[in-house]
Amino acid sequence: MEVANGVIAKPYQNGISSLKSENVKWKSEKKLESLPRPIAVCGPSGSGKSTLLKRFLAEYKDYVDFSISHTTRKPRPNEIDGKDYHFVSREDMEKAIANGEFLEHAEFSGNIYGTSKNAVKQILKNGKLCILDVEMVGVKNLKKTDLNPKFIFVKTPSIEVLEERLRNRNTESEESLQKRLARAKEELVYGGTPGNFDLVLVNDDLEEAYRQLKEFLLPDIEGLKRRMYH
Ligand code: ADP
Ligand code: 5GP
Repeated sequence: MEVANGVIAKPYQNGISSLKSENVKWKSEKKLESLPRPIAVCGPSGSGKSTLLKRFLAEYKDYVDFSISHTTRKPRPNEIDGKDYHFVSREDMEKAIANGEFLEHAEFSGNIYGTSKNAVKQILKNGKLCILDVEMVGVKNLKKTDLNPKFIFVKTPSIEVLEERLRNRNTESEESLQKRLARAKEELVYGGTPGNFDLVLVNDDLEEAYRQLKEFLLPDIEGLKRRMYH
């Protein structure tokens, strides 16, 4: 059934009734309903989420898109506003949250991070697999929405390896590093609790972790390819 005036007649299977996209034009409800479930990736800071996701996003850029979060954290030297994050002031972020613009948000290491409804909506509108990078509170909050993502937890083989990688990344002050390690301990308990995640990836050897990530996500990519070409 074609959708009139870009207005969706009924809530779509993938959820986010709150995103019931007045401005989203879908070709058909069938197309809408067969979109793969979004993917929410979580894991301690330094576990390798960005490394794995950047590679996957580059390899499958025609089918996958990254939900660019907002944060009140300052950009790192290699980060680009609007690509890695939307970097905003705390005041603007709090206003936008109060305005209902966020699907989820959380305080992490002294800053607010959040997924805007718009970021996700744009990706779903383009019919791509939507990938989110969220910390533990974000995961818990997403579970309360009707976005219905699959959840992946990424961890290092040990907390010592995590600390070493975070230190070698050379992006954090000692204070920020300690906050992240403290939070990592909580996240590891949550990540290790059966039922919380659909996939737990131990990022020891990068090639092997990437292979496992691809194995998990490729059925969704194949489904998208079939839909795009038929
Ligand atoms: P996150 O996005 O989870 O905070 P990053 O992707 O920034 O983590 O990875 C943290 C650091 O560890 C980076 O310097 C990255 O290059 C490095 N790294 C990622 N995966 C591996 C791996 N399998 N082996 C060694 N170093 C890694
Ligand atoms: P970093 O400062 O290292 O980029 O990110 C810190 C933490 O914030 C990471 O665990 C990352 O997963 C998380 N994060 C990034 N974007 C979001 C978001 O939109 N929502 C939530 N809840 N967490 C996020």
